[in-house]
Amino acid sequence: MKAHERFLHYVSFDTTSDESNPACPSTPGQLTLANALAEELLNLGLSDARVDEHGYVYASLPANCETDTPTLGFIAHMDTSPDACGHDIHPRIVENYDGGDIVLNEEQHVVMSPNKYTHLRDYIGQDLIVTDGTTLLGADDKAGVAEIMTLVEEIQRDNLPHGKLCFAFTPDEEIGRGADLFDVPGFGAQFAYTVDGGKLGELEYENFNAASAVVTVHGLNIHPGEAKNKMKNALLIAIEFQNMLPAWEIPACTEGYEGFQHLNRMNGDEETATLHYIIRDHDRAKFEAKKERFRRIAAYLNEKHGDGTIELELADSYYNMREKVEPYLFLIENAKRAMLDVGVTPLVQPIRGGTDGSRLSYMGLPCPNLSTGGHNGHGRFEYIPVQSMDAMVRVLRRLACPTAENA
Ligand SMILES: [Zn+2]
Repeated sequence: MKAHERFLHYVSFDTTSDESNPACPSTPGQLTLANALAEELLNLGLSDARVDEHGYVYASLPANCETDTPTLGFIAHMDTSPDACGHDIHPRIVENYDGGDIVLNEEQHVVMSPNKYTHLRDYIGQDLIVTDGTTLLGADDKAGVAEIMTLVEEIQRDNLPHGKLCFAFTPDEEIGRGADLFDVPGFGAQFAYTVDGGKLGELEYENFNAASAVVTVHGLNIHPGEAKNKMKNALLIAIEFQNMLPAWEIPACTEGYEGFQHLNRMNGDEETATLHYIIRDHDRAKFEAKKERFRRIAAYLNEKHGDGTIELELADSYYNMREKVEPYLFLIENAKRAMLDVGVTPLVQPIRGGTDGSRLSYMGLPCPNLSTGGHNGHGRFEYIPVQSMDAMVRVLRRLACPTAENA
């Protein structure tokens, strides 16, 4: 079976994750898909395929030849983003794409245009899997699941020589919990790749260092008519805090390796005001400096407005996996070579976000991220070329079975 045929089946499962549910998996559809995937792995001859009590799917293939390659794992996530509707997905294949506008939904006038999504022009002549304009597609990350499953099928079918290989499908990645209950020792791999990136050829082993900051301002409210020299307006002090941060270090003004602080929620009144920030930087020293600036502003404003005016809570969320992957750069070199061997141009770039792979890297499983081939994740304009999925299966074959002649 081709990867895209599997993919079209997997998107029929509603696996939207739900941040409001603390259980794992956060939605029952994920468990339904997990059970189906475990059964498929069993049918492909992976006799240890299993779903654990949290909905993680694990399976392995023992080495079938003499090899000194390390035990390698491949991981994809089963859930889809809650940012867009993930049920009743009606995918369609636009065959031999002509480079023009794609009408996703005639009735609702939903059109995907290469004028807006210029990468569409890279796929003229290819077959694009698109949505009907009302839901996301789920290539993030069911394309990864389908590509890994097709790799397994082809290894078995073609009897490819390989070292020990491990496979896992995880729940709740989109709500940041995919690594929480991952059983690294039970998984059994020394190194792994997540297959969860975008455009064909993407290869990532650097992500942000991440922290959150909550600034609580304690003011003093008094009748405005009698407030002279008495009122301490928490709202104004909150604005003062924000205005001491560099205006250009925000998501809308940064790219590549440039970090930022991002105000993502504020509320309050004269008495109490709260500012919620996320802080991001690839560089650990710059990341620490950004947090230090928050502390210094808090200290300055406390001096100015009185002790206890500003309360600052800083909490680290995750770190750049580069530090954990760098001692094993052969993982990156092997992935690059596998891509080049099958005619895919590697695009090494920093992730402006986090991945489960970064968390797993700090849990003892160095884990760079590979592309799936998908574009425009988390929304109605998500699409993936069939040819990119086939190419990714070939990349995975080269990586998993580097000594196979016909891989
Ligand atoms: Zn993803």
